[in-house]
Amino acid sequence: MSFGIDDLPVRDELRGKSPYGAPQLDVPVRLNTNENPYPLPEPLVERIAERVRDAARDLNRYPDRDAVELRTKLAEYLTRTGRHEVGLENVWAANGSNEVIQQLLQTFGGPGRTAIGFEPSYSMHALIARGTGTGWISGPRDEDFTIDLAAAAKAIAENRPDVVFITTPNNPTGNAVPAETVLALYEAAQAAKPSVVVVDEAYIEFSHGNSLLPLIEGRPNLVLSRTMSKAFGAAGLRLGYLAAHPAVVDAVQLVRLPYHLSAITQATALAALEHTDTLLKYVEQLKSERDRLVAELRAVGYDVTDSDANFVQFGRFADTHEAWRGILDRGVLVRDNGVPGWLRVSAGTPQENDAFLDAVRELKKEHS
Ligand code: PMP
Repeated sequence: MSFGIDDLPVRDELRGKSPYGAPQLDVPVRLNTNENPYPLPEPLVERIAERVRDAARDLNRYPDRDAVELRTKLAEYLTRTGRHEVGLENVWAANGSNEVIQQLLQTFGGPGRTAIGFEPSYSMHALIARGTGTGWISGPRDEDFTIDLAAAAKAIAENRPDVVFITTPNNPTGNAVPAETVLALYEAAQAAKPSVVVVDEAYIEFSHGNSLLPLIEGRPNLVLSRTMSKAFGAAGLRLGYLAAHPAVVDAVQLVRLPYHLSAITQATALAALEHTDTLLKYVEQLKSERDRLVAELRAVGYDVTDSDANFVQFGRFADTHEAWRGILDRGVLVRDNGVPGWLRVSAGTPQENDAFLDAVRELKKEHS
């Protein structure tokens, strides 16, 4: 027997656990991690090279610790697209929204405190809670994957969590949470504790509806978490950000590591933000491909959850793993998120989506 993790004096809550991560398999069509399938356009690649070259000349120095230029540009993007004016003081950035969430839990969660999410939802919320020593409460979701307001508010009132996660559009189910539900849960959370409500809008640019950005006005315990990994097609960049009351931005700085955003990251993100309009054109294309996937999957006879994201949850399968394998055998990698009976496919290019649809049509025939 070789020496392993559990032979080390690791924290009890990490014993027997495995790291998060979707399989990175070498398959012709990979539609499993909700990435944007389009590579960055060449003029943007050139601009990144230019900005990074400039930044490289100063790499002997630490980067701008407060990422002022980047946060200003992110605030401009939010103001332009979010129907609400925000400034530098409302915005904070980190290495992916995962790090934003980690900083929020380090600030508002931690040992002796708890966080709640309505599951199935983005499983990293629970894992980051564990990593930060925050207790995790699995809140309820209805059979159809919507959040039942009464049941969710009851869970908040009973558990009095310090942090409440609401993911809209939700991952892996794809459906959005109505603004009224978010508002009612915010009120329930304030009455119970008060606690910080984190609205994870990683996929908001793909939604039929609008960002909940205007709701941060007058609600200092409401935080919006966003990312450049999806709509901006820059998952490799690792840039997430939040929008909230300036006090929240001050508070997360108590836990952030100094110089956490490298000069290269800041330069690259700034270059991408100069090309926002071009990048967001792909969003429109992906939205129509997403709608096509929903329609075609339903036409073939699958159950599909309404989607406001760049992915679609479909089922139902008696044996989810076997269905996942059957699609993989036809050269298409989708995601089994552990929701019994359901799989998730990310919207790819039209050609990739055709390959996926061919695979699931064949699968359906085989089982009918
Ligand atoms: N939130 C949700 C709901 C997600 O699905 C993801 C990525 N899968 C993230 C946050 C994290 O994204 P990133 O760290 O790349 O910003």
